[in-house]
Amino acid sequence: MPDGKHLKPLTDKMFRFNIPLIEGVDYKMLTTRPRGTNDILPGEVEKWHYLEKVCRRVCSDFGYQEIRTPIFEHTELFLRGVGETTDIVEKEMYSFYDRGERSITLRPEGTASTVRAFLENKLYAEPQPTKLYYIGPMFRYDRPQAGRYRQFHQFGIEVFGSNHPSVDAEVIGLACTVLEKLQLTGLKVHINTVGCPQCRPRHLKALVDYFSDKKDKLCKTCQERLNKNPLRILDCKSDICRELAKDAPTTRSSACPSCEVHFTKVLKYLDALGIEYVVDPRLVRGLDYYTHTAFEILVEGIGAQSAICGGGRYDGLIEQCGGKPTPGIGFAMGMERLLLTLETKGIDLSQLLTHPDVYIAAIGEKPQEEAFKLAMELRRKGISTEKDYLDKSLKAQLKAADRLGVKYTLILGDEELKARKIVVKEMAKSEQTEIPIDDIINYLERGLKTND
Ligand code: ATP
Ligand code: MG
Repeated sequence: MPDGKHLKPLTDKMFRFNIPLIEGVDYKMLTTRPRGTNDILPGEVEKWHYLEKVCRRVCSDFGYQEIRTPIFEHTELFLRGVGETTDIVEKEMYSFYDRGERSITLRPEGTASTVRAFLENKLYAEPQPTKLYYIGPMFRYDRPQAGRYRQFHQFGIEVFGSNHPSVDAEVIGLACTVLEKLQLTGLKVHINTVGCPQCRPRHLKALVDYFSDKKDKLCKTCQERLNKNPLRILDCKSDICRELAKDAPTTRSSACPSCEVHFTKVLKYLDALGIEYVVDPRLVRGLDYYTHTAFEILVEGIGAQSAICGGGRYDGLIEQCGGKPTPGIGFAMGMERLLLTLETKGIDLSQLLTHPDVYIAAIGEKPQEEAFKLAMELRRKGISTEKDYLDKSLKAQLKAADRLGVKYTLILGDEELKARKIVVKEMAKSEQTEIPIDDIINYLERGLKTND
C-alpha cells in the first residue's frame, strides 16, 4: 500500500477538493487520460446508446432483468468469486486500500458481484430461475492495444437456479440474437465441456501425466500451472505451449456420463435453435467451480483480440461464495470489441446521430430574449431546439442551423418581433413563411408530426 510519503502538503484550495498534490507534478497528466482508458465523445456515444438499446431489448424479450451493482467491491469477493489462480486476480486487478483501510477492488468482471447481490438480497427466495443482465464498465490492468483496455465495458447475463441444458443453449442463443440484431453474421460459437468435480480429478491427472515429460519445454507460467492449475495450460497464448498442448487429453475424453449427457443435450438444443458451433476441446475455464459448458464467440478480422463474448456454466460458484448449492451460467460480451467488429465489417451506425428539430436564429437584444423563452417552451413541449449562445451574426447562425441538420429554422429580428411574427424556414423544402409568434408551437407540432 502506498505510504503517502511522496505526497506534499495540500494547498488550501486543493485541500478543499481533497486532491493530493504530487511533488514535481507533470502538468501533461492533467490533460492526458490514464493509459488504457477512453473518452466516449458525442458522435460516438450515440453508437453506445444504440448497442445498449439492442442489448436491453433482447434481454427484455428473453425475460432478463437488469441489475446494477457497485463499481467497487471488497477484494475478497474477487479472490473467491473469480479465483486466485486466474490472470485477473494474479495480475490484472485494480486494488487499493480505502481510508478505512479496507481492501477494495474496482470490479474486473460482473459475475462475482451479481452472485454477491443474489445472496445479499436473497433473490433466491423469489421464483427461480433468476435471470439478470448488466451493462457497465470493468477494470483490468491489461496491456492496452486495439480491443484491449484498462477500463472497458461489458454487457453480460447470468442465470441462477437451473441446471437444465436448454438454459445453456438459451444463454448462447441470447448472445447470438444480440449479434444478429446488430447484423453481425459469420461469427463462430466455440463450445466445450469442462467437466465437473466428479470427473475433473481424472482429467487433471491425465493432463499432468501428459505434460510431465514436456515440463521443461513449457513456458515459465505453465511450468507453475502444471502444479497449481494444469487446465490453464490449455489456455496459454504462447505458441510453444499451444503446440505442446495439441495432443493433450481433452476434457471430453475424461468426462463422466452425466457431463457427456449434459453436453450432448446442450448441442442438441443448439441444433434445434439453428445455431452453428465448433466443438473446441482447447476451450477451458481453469477453476473448480466452472462446470459443463464453456463457450466463446470469435470474430475474424479484428486482430488478436478476437473473442467478443465468453461464458459458461459455474454450478459451484454460488456455494463457493457462501450460498446454498445453486447452479449458474452466464456470459460477458466486450462492448468495445463489439463496436470494433461493427466498424471492421463496415456496418455504419453514423445514421444514428440525432438532429435537433428546430434552430432559432435571433438578432438583437429583445429578439434574443424572446428566442431564449421560446427555446425553453419548445423544449418543454418535447421539440428539440438549438439556439445561438455567442451573439453570432445572422449569417453565422444560419450556417450553424444548416450544420446541425435541423428541420426548421426560425428567424427573429426586431421587425418580426414588433409584428409578433416569426420567419419559419422549412429546410427540406427551402420554403419560407411568416407565422404569428403565438401560433408557432402549434405550427411546429403539426409539421413535425406529419414529418415523422
Ligand atoms: P482475453 O483472453 O481476450 O483476455 P478474457 O478471457 O480475459 O479475454 P472474459 O473475462 O471472458 O475475457 O471477458 C469477456 C469479454 O470481455 C471478452 O470476450 C472480451 O470481449 C471482453 N474483454 C475482456 N477483457 C477486455 C479488455 N481488457 N478490454 C476490452 N474488452 C475486454
Ligand atoms: Mg483477459
